Amino acid sequence: VIHFRAVARHFDDVIAVGGVDLSVAAGCFVALVGASGSGKSTLMKMVNGLEQPTTGQVIFAGEDVSTQPPAKLRRRIGYVFQSIGLFPHMNVAENIGIGPRLSGQRLGDGRIRALLELVELEADMTSRMPDELSGGQRQRVGVARALANEPELLLMDEPFGALDPITRDALGERVRALHDALGLTSIMVTHDMAEALLLADRVLVMDAGLIVADETPAALLAGKGGEIAQGLVAVPR
Ligand code: ATP
Ligand code: MG
Repeated sequence: VIHFRAVARHFDDVIAVGGVDLSVAAGCFVALVGASGSGKSTLMKMVNGLEQPTTGQVIFAGEDVSTQPPAKLRRRIGYVFQSIGLFPHMNVAENIGIGPRLSGQRLGDGRIRALLELVELEADMTSRMPDELSGGQRQRVGVARALANEPELLLMDEPFGALDPITRDALGERVRALHDALGLTSIMVTHDMAEALLLADRVLVMDAGLIVADETPAALLAGKGGEIAQGLVAVPR
């Protein structure tokens, strides 16, 4: 579904991403781990056109991302953002419906209830405002919003980073179950190697703008992937 061909992204003299070749097959759940500043968010943003490569090409669904209209990409790719949360002045239902609304559609109440159910929230949450939700509930709404357009690809940038480990595990497992049930292709950025090992089919490790390991959880647990990857595997939670 996704191909990176020699993709680099520079910001002046900072090399955020330094020449990545990568393919992600349909149905795969990929975890992307690596130190802060290693280029994870920049790599993700280039998949849905929020950032453009300085050199190289990103192909999604057979077409160069840079030639695809942003609205089309937004429809086909769900994105759970790092740190940017819900729109504070919109209630839960309005937050979930914003993607379809941008493409001129209104989500019916039944559809919103179904999306809430997918992320295990009560139907009576629809009129709550974001500041009336717990952190975990907000992240659940963020996932529901990302799924509202029935995307084929789900990109999640540290979706559960700010949550306690128990809530994080519960949400991670829910997202993995949704990935399987909805037949998605997913990429999830996380700082947490334990989470990556638990949820993903494939773990990518980034360092200084490059992918330095690309292994299955089983291979990482068996000691493969090199020094940087093994350093992360060794970190206790
Ligand atoms: P974190 O784990 O902290 O989110 P990350 O791996 O997502 O980090 P990126 O956000 O991709 O890292 O940033 C990679 C590098 O590119 C960093 O050095 C960052 O400062 C730089 N960078 C990212 N976006 C911009 C921008 N818009 N302008 C200038 N530099 C940027
Ligand atoms: Mg980031």
